[in-house]
Amino acid sequence: MRARGNAWQPCRWFVTDQVHWYSFTMRKGIAVSPGVAIGTAYVIHEIFVNPDTKRLEDSEVTAELARYETARDRSAADLRALERKVEAQVGHDEAAIFAVHQSILRDAAFTNKIRGWIVDERLTAGAALHRLLGEYTELFSKTADAYLKERLNDVRDVVIRLSGHMTQVQKPASQGVLEGPLIVVADELLPSQAVALGEIEVKGIVTQGGSQTSHAAIIARSRGIPAVSGVKRLMRVVKTGDKIVVDGRTGHVEINPNPETLAAFRKVEREFFHLKDELAENRDLPAVTADGVGLHLQANINGVPDANAAGAMGGSGVGLYRTEYLYLTHSDVPDEQEQYDTYRQIIAASPNRTVSIRTLDIGGDKTVPYLGHNHQEANPFMGWRSIRLSFEHPEFFNTQIRAIIRAAADCPESNVRIMFPMVTTIEELRRLRGMVRRCYKSLMEQGKPTARVPMGMMLEVPAAAIMISSMLDLVDFVSIGSNDLVQYLMAADRDNPKVSHLCQPMSPAVLHVLHNVIQACDHANTQVTVCGEMAGQPRTFLLLLGMGVRFFSMSPAFIPSIKRLASQVSIAQAEHIFQSVLKFKTTSQVKRQMAELLEDIAPELALLDTPS
Ligand code: PEP
Ligand code: MG
Repeated sequence: MRARGNAWQPCRWFVTDQVHWYSFTMRKGIAVSPGVAIGTAYVIHEIFVNPDTKRLEDSEVTAELARYETARDRSAADLRALERKVEAQVGHDEAAIFAVHQSILRDAAFTNKIRGWIVDERLTAGAALHRLLGEYTELFSKTADAYLKERLNDVRDVVIRLSGHMTQVQKPASQGVLEGPLIVVADELLPSQAVALGEIEVKGIVTQGGSQTSHAAIIARSRGIPAVSGVKRLMRVVKTGDKIVVDGRTGHVEINPNPETLAAFRKVEREFFHLKDELAENRDLPAVTADGVGLHLQANINGVPDANAAGAMGGSGVGLYRTEYLYLTHSDVPDEQEQYDTYRQIIAASPNRTVSIRTLDIGGDKTVPYLGHNHQEANPFMGWRSIRLSFEHPEFFNTQIRAIIRAAADCPESNVRIMFPMVTTIEELRRLRGMVRRCYKSLMEQGKPTARVPMGMMLEVPAAAIMISSMLDLVDFVSIGSNDLVQYLMAADRDNPKVSHLCQPMSPAVLHVLHNVIQACDHANTQVTVCGEMAGQPRTFLLLLGMGVRFFSMSPAFIPSIKRLASQVSIAQAEHIFQSVLKFKTTSQVKRQMAELLEDIAPELALLDTPS
């Protein structure tokens, strides 16, 4: 079944050799998480794009004012708590931003405008906030003053906080507004919002921005939810309550499709669920290739529910725990004890109590306000990110390292490792080792139990890929973060749909670099895992296997299909496949060849492969 046609044009739809003309709205984006889902659109932060046009009845005004005031009180309480905690744990300067936000919230002009519009013009509080943001945006756009422009971001943050308290992103269904499974629609899904969605039944995700390896895509994959990103002008046409189909294999999104289209997609949706159930039955089978070589299929997780999913899907451990989600979803700064408690829960929930814990990877597309969020950077992915940021907050960084060591020591029979993101230089590795050493020393001086925790680096930066042989002496293991490595090698932002044609793991340049790194690790006898998204995609998995990788870490939802694929291919075959693509000079040649080979080896897995 194939859809063709230009976006927003009536589409030509081919069904069983007949040509039908239907007029429904179809849009094409980037397929980021496989499968088909049908549900009701739930548009996040709709107030920014589709302001509520409802006018309040006289009898509703008092309740609307009270709703706004409650949101204001809750926002003020959040901000006070954040200011206190950040001041204590990070520093006075970092906490100052929350004082600024409180003063915006207290600002008489701000609040009087909102109240006035609710009372005099019968606007809902959401519509009033939207109008206020519009006014400020216009006002600030006239100034060239960078300081004032920055204040607009503060106003925006306050408005987001207020609207979050008013709309309760987490529970749209419980408000009785929406029925049935939901398809989340967003301009861009912030990691914190994506995690907050864990409490509702989300069947699919569509975003206007983002691409294959943006964090919304990663979360969708980790939960096995079909998703499409990079859908242009999406927010202009989708409204909360629309019926929507997400095809995470082809990148198509259908809005309010007609009954026949819907029926066709329902059939594919059923096949998708059937395949998923069938594959999940593999969970207790060992991960071995057709010629009996054992593989380690581990999971990338963001929290305890994912760690449980890792076990349920038959993973042998957790190869990447992204700790930043603990910070992003915490109402303030998690202290050492809170982190220790969370890490212990994660270790206990992980298969074989095996977890590689990655230290805070904030920056790029993930920001927390108390760690420099307010300093806009021209190139955030190449800027103050990951360990670069952690180094500037040593107390804060030490808290995390200590919590990891303590949690490992207090979990018997666990296999816990610590790994550092975005390592670029040998100097950084030396500095990290020094910090870890000092954490051990201080814990021992305090009489706290410690355990030896192997230390590894994430290989994500081309400079480190070039110098890898000289770095291996300083680490116990390497984990290749191919999402970042690809974006840095190709100089193509992983979140920008306009350059997603370049940000491709099947680019010959990427394959050559990966091959070199894997050979260097083999040569030095250092264990190497691939934990970027390519580890869980059937075509790139085959290439990695052929390069010699035996440790893979992926979204839990992909483990069953990769286990099935592994059982259908021998090492000799995978090596032959990899050698056969080395001769290609373009990404499209590699992709085409791999699509054909996958079709031969495991045609049933095509439903789970994202072709883009
Ligand atoms: C990566 O970059 O491949 C990776 C696994 O880390 P993240 O996606 O969290 O940046
Ligand atoms: Mg990364």
